[in-house]
Amino acid sequence: MEITEKAPAKINLGLDVLGKRADGYHELDMIMTSVDLSDRITVRELENEQVIRLQSNSSFVPLNKKNHAYKAAMVMKKTFGIKKGVEIYIDKKTPVAAGLAGGSSDAAATLRALNQLWQLNLTTQELAKLGEQIGSDVPYCVYGQTARVTGRGEHVRPIDNPKKFWVILVKPSFGVSTPEIFRHVKMDKIQHPDIDALEDAVVNSDFDALLQNLGNALEAVTLAKHPLISKIKERLLASGADGVLMSGSGPTVFALCQQEKKAQRICNSIKGFCDEVYLVRML
Ligand code: ATP
Repeated sequence: MEITEKAPAKINLGLDVLGKRADGYHELDMIMTSVDLSDRITVRELENEQVIRLQSNSSFVPLNKKNHAYKAAMVMKKTFGIKKGVEIYIDKKTPVAAGLAGGSSDAAATLRALNQLWQLNLTTQELAKLGEQIGSDVPYCVYGQTARVTGRGEHVRPIDNPKKFWVILVKPSFGVSTPEIFRHVKMDKIQHPDIDALEDAVVNSDFDALLQNLGNALEAVTLAKHPLISKIKERLLASGADGVLMSGSGPTVFALCQQEKKAQRICNSIKGFCDEVYLVRML
């Protein structure tokens, strides 16, 4: 038997850093949403083996125990005493180290797929709880729908039926390390976005208020190291984009659009400037 699950990329419509916790993690307050740029995770049982075997079409992901999908399988095997082996194939579409939680989403999709393969009947909440052991973005990715996310990422409150917009993703050719960006955060310099106002805008499908309240407290930190991100933002705004923001710890920048035609036009005009450009839709 084999099971395939989609692993969609996420963007942060808002990301605030509230402080540093005693356990070393930062306390966050975020609005996250998923888009239809997805990896595909396929799991297949290996009857006579204990191993977790990984394969991928991408040379950018580690094919060993450092892979988030491997970690997810390990957590499932250990927690439920599963003696069977499993082969995991990662069909990679989401850029790596991009601020789009590609690895976390792969882990979440692996949890969902193994839940079916091994007939564990775990709820979304139970899978999200297991996801905490793998990485801060994994609980959100288990839900995979627009949500207010707090703590270091462990508290996920879904927001039902948000209005869906077009999203232009622009990924510069370099990657960014999330832990490194967090190491450079200086709490007294943080610009705090209004996440309550942003949530209201999402709940009320108020596009103008959404644009006004887009904000990412990590943006200034990453921009200081990578000025090209500012250039991409300027270019997108000059092309007519209404709202533009860096996702997560970067470097991917996104622009939101209500109309497909306008989104297509902006997408075409940024393509000459940056190689990796995707026109996607909120899920
Ligand atoms: P986040 O926004 O959650 O910090 P990201 O999008 O910035 O994530 P990822 O694409 O998840 O970053 O990659 C971060 C690191 O994780 C990479 O350096 C990569 O080597 C490692 N990694 C492990 N497993 C995976 C995976 N399945 N897919 C992508 N990267 C992975």
